Amino acid sequence: MSSTLPAPIAEPATTSAPRSYEVRTFGCQMNVHDSERMSGLLEAAGYVKAPEGAEPDVVVFNTCAVRENADNRLYGHLGQLRPVKERHPGMQIAVGGCLAQKDRDTILAKAPWVDAVFGTHNVGALPALLERARHNDEAQLEILESLEVFPSTLPTKRDSVYSGWVSISVGCNNTCTFCIVPSLRGKERDRRPGEILAEVQALVDDGAIEVTLLGQNVNSYGVEFGDRLAFGKLLRACGQIEGLERVRFTSPHPAAFTDDVIDAMAETPNVMPQLHMPLQSGSDRILREMRRSYRSAKFLGILDRVRERIPHAAITTDIIVGFPGETEEDFQATLDVVERSRFSSAFTFQYSQRPGTPAATMAEQLPKAVVQERYERLIALQDRIAAEENAAQVGRTLEVMATAQPGRKAGETHRLSGRARDNRLVHFSVPEGAQAPRPGDLVTVTVTEAAAFHLIADPADPADYSLRRSRAGDAWDRSQADSCGVPAPGAGSTGRGVSLGMPALPVRGA
Ligand code: SF4
Repeated sequence: MSSTLPAPIAEPATTSAPRSYEVRTFGCQMNVHDSERMSGLLEAAGYVKAPEGAEPDVVVFNTCAVRENADNRLYGHLGQLRPVKERHPGMQIAVGGCLAQKDRDTILAKAPWVDAVFGTHNVGALPALLERARHNDEAQLEILESLEVFPSTLPTKRDSVYSGWVSISVGCNNTCTFCIVPSLRGKERDRRPGEILAEVQALVDDGAIEVTLLGQNVNSYGVEFGDRLAFGKLLRACGQIEGLERVRFTSPHPAAFTDDVIDAMAETPNVMPQLHMPLQSGSDRILREMRRSYRSAKFLGILDRVRERIPHAAITTDIIVGFPGETEEDFQATLDVVERSRFSSAFTFQYSQRPGTPAATMAEQLPKAVVQERYERLIALQDRIAAEENAAQVGRTLEVMATAQPGRKAGETHRLSGRARDNRLVHFSVPEGAQAPRPGDLVTVTVTEAAAFHLIADPADPADYSLRRSRAGDAWDRSQADSCGVPAPGAGSTGRGVSLGMPALPVRGA
């Protein structure tokens, strides 16, 4: 497949400066994790991450085909890069991910200045395709129909030292009519438990104390090797890993969510009291049209059993509003299930036609105005419930793992941010004179205020705040030291906040 642009100027073989790269990610957590692999592969091949604000030699787009206008957005970004590439000798652009799997050669037809296109099944080919494109001076397109290597066996560069993602399966055997995943990611492929546990152990050895198990449909894990109870067993096995403090997973499917998984969650202390359970619709008629095989009563029954066994579990969900043929009565059924489910938060989507999905060709597509109006009613209801559920947290004492991302208002409030065990976002302040956590350290604080999307903990005095410095915080120190060349203090350091010349986390009153 030839490029119509002037040939990119190949770097001389003797060049000493390594080529820099940037990976731009669109879409879901699966893509975020795939992007970590792309970075890992590029670094293993000798590329270095481009510094913030610098113009990289290689830009990789990891695309998503699920969101509305995904293709317009991609071509917009590619169009902006064209003049940059023209004045940057040797620059290369690669496009991977779901949209590449779906659009294939269309990408090179529409944006012939792209150098490499690869699909969801051959992420590992990225460095070779870039190299081949440079060597042959010709754009490379390689899309596979199915996986040859399980992606988790590829090198990965993690974005966070204190927590990591581990794929347990890829693909999906369901056929939800709104979803493009089965046609782009293929049938479910399960990784062997031993391999998964070895990867979890490696992350923990590296300093992580939190791991999220990842799959399109985690609770059907085991279907490929004939063990229906495999996911619950995997959770229990994670409970045996010393030093692993927080285990999460996403996403399960209500149809296959069995009580043995609830038991494993309740009986494994490091599995967090949190569940993301996609509802999609509260109307049984619409669920049938969506080809989702559970019904609202079953969904509510799962939530009841989870809360019976794990009383403080925070449950989140996904909901689609305005699926083709949805009547006001169907929508009311969704509102009713949302009211009864008491979700701590919800990802809400307005239905829009996705080419290639069965629902895109269904009759009775709803007018945008109707979908918008229902969407706003759903948001208003869910925001009220989230605010009420969070208000009930005021006065509770929570263990919060500090994260590296400051809250939006951290500059004014001087609060730090972190995640509670149930994954609620908590902004907390450090009392005057107390030691601040590093990202990955754990603080214990009492909630003093609540809003719909976060909790606030402002300890009145130092006795209301305690800090536990963790291996993950030590790993954070080491990673910062590695990146700036200053030796890290040992685990017993009493330095305040993040040291080593890195930006200090804000401390209230400091
Ligand atoms: S369960 Fe349904 S929505 Fe989820 S990935 Fe599979 S087909 Fe898509």
